[in-house]
Amino acid sequence: MKRIFYFNITYGCNSNCVFCYSHNTRHNSESYNEILVEQIFQYLECQGITSRDRVIINGGEPLLHTKIEEMLIGLIQYKCEVLIYTNGRLINNYDFTVLSKNFRFIVPIHGYETIHDSVTGVHGSYQETIEGLKYLVEGTECLVDIKLILNDRIISKDPIGEKILQEFEDTIVFNNAIHLTKMADTIISVRNNCQPIINEKASIFMQIFFDYFKNKNVKIKIFDTCIRSIGWLENKEIRKYKDSIEVYFKDKNQYRVIDLSKNLFGCRKNCPLIDKCISAVNEYKVLEYFEGKIYENLE
Ligand code: SF4
Repeated sequence: MKRIFYFNITYGCNSNCVFCYSHNTRHNSESYNEILVEQIFQYLECQGITSRDRVIINGGEPLLHTKIEEMLIGLIQYKCEVLIYTNGRLINNYDFTVLSKNFRFIVPIHGYETIHDSVTGVHGSYQETIEGLKYLVEGTECLVDIKLILNDRIISKDPIGEKILQEFEDTIVFNNAIHLTKMADTIISVRNNCQPIINEKASIFMQIFFDYFKNKNVKIKIFDTCIRSIGWLENKEIRKYKDSIEVYFKDKNQYRVIDLSKNLFGCRKNCPLIDKCISAVNEYKVLEYFEGKIYENLE
């Protein structure tokens, strides 16, 4: 059994993304509704956490939490995997040199600089994130993943992904995995008139991105998007994730075990890639490519 302990540690955020996943978040650059560090450790101890478990630290923006350093340093003792989902803008405010490879930062990129800043709603956010990535890759032992989230602005302003891929050539650094996904429709995205990303469009971009990263000696993790155009995947054998997964969600006010039942899209019926179309949201798994092989794996 793989146990995942998922914490939303604050609902404050210093960005104002046009598709923000959390309507609980307050976008005023201050921590808000924080879970106490002591509460986290009490809870993990109670659950009998071991090195085989995974802890997820999310928000809001988790690096706004007033005790984030103390929290991450405290997690070292369990020797478990720790994933930190952050917009990357505040990384340089902290000293993460004591963290090991058990700690993995997952940082979103929304397009080249102008697109990225227009999605986050903060001028200069791209540069801050780039600086944070450099610090993590060059100054710490942590693993660093990029989550490249396809959105309607990339589709309209960078129609073959040329400019964003040039940024990966010149500027964006990471050392572990690229996550490929598309913007989800949320209450906030609808309010901001973001165009939904249709499967046909997503699929074309996924092919472009997959072809680019396939030769870069990094892991590719694909989820919550359409992969039908990635011809390379057809007839490839996928190694299934064998373990069962249980997700325990905790924030300041609630606790629940998340139900991982599968949500079937209509398009699945006739799709030749059905066995490789994986939703991290509903299954907690992704399609992973590494060194010529494909796997069903965790994000
Ligand atoms: S089932 Fe096939 S067509 Fe539907 S989203 Fe998945 S890959 Fe695309």
